Amino acid sequence: MRSNNNIEEVNYLIVGAGVSGLSFANQVKHKSYLIVEKDDEAGGYCKTIKKQGFVWDYSGHFFHFRDPKIRSFLLKRMAKNTVVDVVKNSKIYYKGSYVDFPFQKNINQLPKKEFLDCLNDLYKTKKTKPRSFKQMVYNNYGRSIAEKFLIPYNEKLYACDLDSLDQNAMGRFFPQASLKEILKHFKKPSNNSYNTTFTYPMNGAMQYIHALLKDLKTERILLNESVIKIDAKNKIAYTTKRTIKYKHLISSVPFPKLLSVTKTPFNKKHFSSNKVLVFNLGFDSKGNSEHHWVYFPDKKYRFYRIGYYDNIIQKNRMSLYVEIGLKTKAKVNVTKELSRVLNGLKKASIITDQKLIASHHVVMDPAYVHINKRSQEVFLNKQKLLQKQGIYSIGRYGGWKYCSIEDNIIEAFELSKKLLKGTNR
Ligand SMILES: Cc1cc2nc3c(=O)[nH]c(=O)nc-3n(C[C@H](O)[C@H](O)[C@H](O)COP(=O)(O)OP(=O)(O)OC[C@H]3O[C@@H](n4cnc5c(N)ncnc54)[C@H](O)[C@@H]3O)c2cc1C
Repeated sequence: MRSNNNIEEVNYLIVGAGVSGLSFANQVKHKSYLIVEKDDEAGGYCKTIKKQGFVWDYSGHFFHFRDPKIRSFLLKRMAKNTVVDVVKNSKIYYKGSYVDFPFQKNINQLPKKEFLDCLNDLYKTKKTKPRSFKQMVYNNYGRSIAEKFLIPYNEKLYACDLDSLDQNAMGRFFPQASLKEILKHFKKPSNNSYNTTFTYPMNGAMQYIHALLKDLKTERILLNESVIKIDAKNKIAYTTKRTIKYKHLISSVPFPKLLSVTKTPFNKKHFSSNKVLVFNLGFDSKGNSEHHWVYFPDKKYRFYRIGYYDNIIQKNRMSLYVEIGLKTKAKVNVTKELSRVLNGLKKASIITDQKLIASHHVVMDPAYVHINKRSQEVFLNKQKLLQKQGIYSIGRYGGWKYCSIEDNIIEAFELSKKLLKGTNR
């Protein structure tokens, strides 16, 4: 890394010190690189908050490693026995009772009349090609399953009209099931989905970030510094504190933000998303369930999902996260929202006589991006354009997609391999 006329020069300029940026840095750590992070600590959406003995993440962050190499890469860099492996116990709170998740496979747990309605509609499903997520749900599962759970739940989560989303908006994260599989499930239930079991570091998601930071030099990570302008033609980035000349720029900032700082023209309407208001709540005593997380499709509850950290890491005080999906432009009145949340938790008997003794909130914006054909087309075109200029946009928001941290790590590793192989390293 050279300094010339106050301009620093690096081969790899990494923008964003979340999972994606740090994973990339791990692969180029012997080359010249800098990481610029606008926040005062690394971690992005995988940060952990500790308050009065409670350990909370930005939201329920649980990890499903499909590739054992990625899991062991992280675990090797962490203290022994600090990660728990858990068999998922997730439920849906439906009309005052609990039904197993996913709803479409467990309709036999509904009252008889509702079960028969679901079954009847399931038999009548059309096999036409759906044009949207909403149509896919009606076409594949029939009206009753769609209207009892899949539509109200996902409308609360995405905070948008589900007709505006692509049928595959959730990719592998949507638990698809054929009629045959549903019928088979009645006889022999299996808890098979992408997250049947999950891992969780007992000190929060941030432990994975510490693992990624382990081999990196602190002085290469510039905190409290934002990239505000990128001159793509001359490969120069301007931050709030300095000017950096780079060969390759790897960005994990939300894609529309990258388009703005590179002055790439775009239409904002192609990049819409929701935001999620997360409350982390700590109580003085344990609750009365062993659930890990619970889905709330009913619109009379403000939240779409809650989760119990205490049931995952075996603690003796109830420790919840509560998630509320909002439109990006929605104004957030935290006091009012917290009061609605607490009332809802009482109504559903999640809270009985427990007292709230600690709380925290965070707004994740963007949280779930609204994927449709047009947004994907525009994304791919602009991404290609930037790549030609040595700018690589990766990560959940850099890639404008629905994915997990494992996907982020794999993508960053693959990009590093490709760039390291190139001649211009
Ligand atoms: C509600 C919710 C629940 C989730 N649950 C799970 C889960 O259970 N399991 C799982 O695997 N994944 C989960 N995820 C996804 C996971 O959070 C993401 O895949 C992952 O954190 C994305 O990492 P990233 O590095 O790509 O992006 P980020 O974490 O967003 O990192 C980007 C970084 O860029 C920085 N930045 C932004 N602009 C600038 C700028 N101009 N200059 C410098 N720095 C900048 C940001 O401060 C941030 O640190 C969840 C996501 C949400 C929203």
